[in-house]
Parts: sequence; structure tokens; C-alpha cells
Amino acid sequence: MTERAMKRCRQGDVCVHPNGPLLPASEEYFYASKTLGGFSSRCKLCTRRRKSLWKQSHPEQVAEQKRRYWAKHPNKRLEQRDRARERQGYKKLLRAEQKRRTKLEKERLARIKHVQSYVDRARRMLHGLEMARIRERERKHRRNALKRRLPADFTPKDWRYALEYFDHRCAICRRSTDHGRVLAHDHWIPLSKYGSFTPRNIVPLCHGVDGCNNKKLAKDPHDWLVKEFGPSEALMIEQRIYNFFQTVRGANLGTVEL
Ligand SMILES: [Zn+2]
Ligand SMILES: [Zn+2]
Repeated sequence: MTERAMKRCRQGDVCVHPNGPLLPASEEYFYASKTLGGFSSRCKLCTRRRKSLWKQSHPEQVAEQKRRYWAKHPNKRLEQRDRARERQGYKKLLRAEQKRRTKLEKERLARIKHVQSYVDRARRMLHGLEMARIRERERKHRRNALKRRLPADFTPKDWRYALEYFDHRCAICRRSTDHGRVLAHDHWIPLSKYGSFTPRNIVPLCHGVDGCNNKKLAKDPHDWLVKEFGPSEALMIEQRIYNFFQTVRGANLGTVEL
């Protein structure tokens, strides 16, 4: 294969081929020619370059050539036009398809948003109902406390303090208020056992699905904690809550009995 015949491009030193002017005598580098011993005298690149230079300097001849070509091949012109029209049509179809897809995607997102808004509204409504129920329960607690001549001076400010103290989490299980749960005022010592509606007896407990407030109810807090969490965790929870009671308004008026 090393014995490849070489051919010199006629352009010589000004040959535009990067490997020129001495190039392998093959159709890869030269146009075939019947007259000049098989190949044209110039390499392909030089031939093309000369042709384009000639076209640039002879616009009228080029136009005349084109006219003659189209006159001779009328069908070719029609074919070319048809191909161009096909391409245009195809592009149009593509654009329409893209538009359709964008529209569908927009509609899909809008539908999701719509459903989501209903879900959100339902969730807000449930939350609102739950809060209303809690407030109603608190009013009842307050009325009952007053009826039983128990102290009942717990204020919204006391509630905000309690929520902040427990980082807006349940004082017992430490869960936050999502998943359909809210934080309710819990009488640590139940009202029925003469627990007051005062800062020293109210803790935020989760209320709702599986809520501590729902489970504790009017049970004795110590007995219930031991039964629910076992003695060692019950002790930890009680300690946490009594520590809190040490910090509330009126805590220095007396000690909380463990
Ligand atoms: Zn050349
Ligand atoms: Zn809880």
C-alpha cells in the first residue's frame, strides 16, 4: 500500500489543499477526467475554488446557465418546489404539534392546581373546624371551672408562651401540628379532678388523629403516661412538663406537687 501513485496539483505552491500540492492520484483528491489520464489537473479543492471564484466574477453567465438548466429540466424545478413545500408543511406540523403539547401540559398543570386548591381548602376547613371545636371546648372548660369555683385566668398570652416554650410541638410526644393534628389546651390535672384553667395546669397537647389530648382525656396524667409510655419515659415526660410549670406566670405562688 506504500506504493501509491502520487499526482501533483497544477496549482503548485498555491494549491489550497492542506496536504498539497503532491497528493495521492485517487478520486478522493482529484475529479475523474476522461481526457487527462484519468484525473483532472487540479486537486478537488482547487477545482472547486476556481469554480466558485469564476461564479463570483461572472454573475450574468451563472444566471444564464441557471435559466438554461431550468428550461431544459422543467420537472426538476417542480420537484424542488414540492420538496420545499413539503419541508415547510412539515415544519408547520411540528410547530402545531409543539403548540398542542404545550397547551396540554398547561392544562394538566392547571388541573393539578385546581385539585390541589380543593384539597388545601378542605384541609383548611378541617383545621378551622378543629380549632373551633377546641375553642368551644375551652369555653366549656372555663365555664365548668368557674362553676366549680376553680381558678380560670388562662389568657391567650399564656397560650402563646406555652406554644413557644414547647416549640409549637406536643408537650408529650413532641410531634408538630401537621398530618391533621392541632395543638389543644390540655388540663394536665383534669377539670373533673379539680385541675384549674390557669397557666400552671395547661399544656399544649396534640389533638386529632392519634392525638395525645384525645387519648389522655380525664385520666390521671401519671397513671396514663406510665400505661402509655412505660415508667422511664413517663418520668421524662412528667419532668419536662413540671419544668415548664416552673416557668409560667404565677409559678412562684406555690410548688407543683409531683
Ligand atoms: Zn490543489
Ligand atoms: Zn402528642
